[in-house]
Amino acid sequence: MTKRLYEENSYIKEFEAIVISCEKDEDYYNVVLNQTAFFPEGGGQKSDVGCLDDSKVVEVIAKDDHIIHKTTKPFEAESIVKGKVDFEVRYKRMQNHTAEHMVSGIVHSLYGYTNVGFHMSENSMRVDFDGELKKEDIEKVELLANKAVWENLDVSVLFPSAQEAEKIDYRSKLEILFGLRLVKIGDLDCCACCAPHVNKTGEVGLIKIIDFTPYKKGTRIEMVAGIDAFYDYTKINNENKKLMGALSAPRNALFDAVNHLSETIALLTREKNILSKELALYKLNLIAINNNAYAFGEGFSHDDLRYASNKFVEEGRDICVLFSKMESGEYSYVVNSNNIDVTPMVKTMNEAFSGRGGGKGSYAQGKISADEKMIEDYIKNALKEWK
Ligand SMILES: [Zn+2]
Repeated sequence: MTKRLYEENSYIKEFEAIVISCEKDEDYYNVVLNQTAFFPEGGGQKSDVGCLDDSKVVEVIAKDDHIIHKTTKPFEAESIVKGKVDFEVRYKRMQNHTAEHMVSGIVHSLYGYTNVGFHMSENSMRVDFDGELKKEDIEKVELLANKAVWENLDVSVLFPSAQEAEKIDYRSKLEILFGLRLVKIGDLDCCACCAPHVNKTGEVGLIKIIDFTPYKKGTRIEMVAGIDAFYDYTKINNENKKLMGALSAPRNALFDAVNHLSETIALLTREKNILSKELALYKLNLIAINNNAYAFGEGFSHDDLRYASNKFVEEGRDICVLFSKMESGEYSYVVNSNNIDVTPMVKTMNEAFSGRGGGKGSYAQGKISADEKMIEDYIKNALKEWK
């Protein structure tokens, strides 16, 4: 059985140990030691990484009653090795894990909900609760969690006997394999947990719930704490500064500035659409074929073409066909008429130019793909027959 040094002291960064066994396993070696400060994966927390002498430890796994270190180099059985935990990574995870216990403990005591899922990713954490939390609840929980940080409560680890455990009120989400280990945070929370935590809640630093969403009849929250929260704040602050510059707005008025910008864009878009329609009317030079007419333009939308063709038909054209070259090189078209069913003509034109689109009765629109000369030759002939 590997002695788990991290269970009683989560601040051990370096330790000495005796190699019990070392076996080759594909690309790595599975090394078992008599004792270790490396935390294996568990309770939502990833395994530690670091070194054993000059070999990397890439992963640590708990199996039965021993802990396997996956190393890049082999070790002699019974030799003495020096282990070094990558404590920067570990400490961040300790901060995160303690923050999660604090938030879960507060949610449990206020609303009776249980943490039913915990995932710690590289820069944030996700916690799932089996009940609905509203915005006000989230704000309350977050404030209480941060107050508990400011109070700098003791975080202690207890190993109660089965009899003692019966008298303790604790949250439990783990299958207990090797005796019960409880992590107690002041009078705020007590929870069964196998992972290393910080000693004082003050070490957790800021706890920020950055989002929450309904999830499987409950609530999923995303949060950051400690070092992650510091870098998250730095990132957000930098983004904020860029926005302040871009919008010429003060720090806390960015939403109003964006709103104002959206309204301005909407207004300008409406004006642009009106002008674009008038421009189509002005720029499309109609070429008459009998009492029909066609014209080619560029960059006009279907709405612009429709507007112009309506005017031309109102002025007395039987059928008006307008084309506009698009950025893709295709041509959008509208076929408009006063009282003639244009759908058969449009069908024939689509077939001739592998086009798509259609309409109803006297109006149709779509796209065709061909060069302008071919389309013009086609439409000149067609308009002679279309009546
Ligand atoms: Zn835990």
